[in-house]
Amino acid sequence: MSPTFRFAPSPTGYLHIGNARTALWNALLARKSGGTFLLRFDDTDTERSKPEYADGILEDLAWLGIPPDRIEQQSERAARYAAVLEDFRARGLVYPAYETAEELDRKRKRQQARGLPPVYDRAALLLTEAERARLEAEGRKPHWRFKLSGDTVRWQDGVRGECHIETASLSDPILARADGQVLYTFASVIDDADFGITDVLRGEDHVANTAVQIELFHALGANLPRFAHHNLIASATGEEMSKRTGALSLRSFRAEGVDPLAVAIVATLTGTSESIRPLEGLGALADLLDLSKFSRALTKFDPSEITDLSVKLLHARPFAALREALAALGIAGSRAEAFWAAIHGNVSRLEEAREWWGLLMQPQNFAVAETDFLAECAELLPAEPFGAESWSQWVGAIQAKTGRKGKALFMPLRLALTGREQGPELKVVLPLLGRAEALARLVPALRP
Ligand code: GLU
Repeated sequence: MSPTFRFAPSPTGYLHIGNARTALWNALLARKSGGTFLLRFDDTDTERSKPEYADGILEDLAWLGIPPDRIEQQSERAARYAAVLEDFRARGLVYPAYETAEELDRKRKRQQARGLPPVYDRAALLLTEAERARLEAEGRKPHWRFKLSGDTVRWQDGVRGECHIETASLSDPILARADGQVLYTFASVIDDADFGITDVLRGEDHVANTAVQIELFHALGANLPRFAHHNLIASATGEEMSKRTGALSLRSFRAEGVDPLAVAIVATLTGTSESIRPLEGLGALADLLDLSKFSRALTKFDPSEITDLSVKLLHARPFAALREALAALGIAGSRAEAFWAAIHGNVSRLEEAREWWGLLMQPQNFAVAETDFLAECAELLPAEPFGAESWSQWVGAIQAKTGRKGKALFMPLRLALTGREQGPELKVVLPLLGRAEALARLVPALRP
């Protein structure tokens, strides 16, 4: 069977870096193996799931460069889940339980007080027909629990190796609530089976669910996928990744103008044995992926790694790769490439190039003091064409004539020529400006 990976977010908020990491690993491993990347919206919780979040997740995945090959939605599969529940009922695999949430809570508290694990006591299994009838007559509707085998479930985890869990230590999971709504574990297994999922790669917060899910796969008579549970990451700055608050969300990085490849590299490689570094693209990132590279511990990451990497990627990009994006900012024409070569080291986001384009490539006069000094400099400006040596020749001449050096020499020139105290090297600015524009900036009266 061709590999099929899935990413299964609930559309109850926007994706944060932690979710993106799971999505990226699944999408890139699918890509690398020539398989399918399926996006499944776990939207059975109709109160918290919102279509705008589903749209947002799709947008965010597209922005990262990993649009899904196939999309499924749990909210459209209620009939299928109900049919499986009916089948399980007929086969005696599930049993009705009538406890209210409060009653269950009281049971758990009593168990905890006695130092026992808060595992469901299966009281509902002992109900007689008559007791059940009485509860129903009271108007109680049952929820449905799956009867775990109590055996040891084993699986070979792609990240964690040999795993085993005694299902006797777990509560029989509720598959469907009294109002008929099915719960995550049940819907997830039916979907994974129906959609031919071969690989379930998700966070290690789902390890305990896996034992239950394996028993459900068996009950369905379905093939088991390979399971792998990656470590989790947390922000070193203490900021919580929260779908609800939007902290460390992909959109917050997008709004900052961060390169999506930087987000992808940091999200994917944090918590692995690979170091975070600029890569050419998602293909190169996919080449590095191997489940054995996940570290086993919770890993902290600093969001500034993303912004730093984004800047490195921008500086390393060849002009050809940016031509269109720069043109969209109005930076186009025969001088665009030389301009980018001159200023790229001075911008941390592509949009900042627009300001430099205005400062350097359009006629400007910046108000500066020291007009006498600048007039002297103007007289000493070498003839065109400006070459690599023009700048040092000019500076040499200014030094010889005025005795100035260092900041006293450079700062008035920088301010007059660029309008900023910091920026690209003046020796590359000069050929960009050309002689006529440089003269007009030094001495406004010389503007033709
Ligand atoms: N909706 C679940 C979650 O986001 C999916 C878990 C899974 O991959 O099975 O935690």
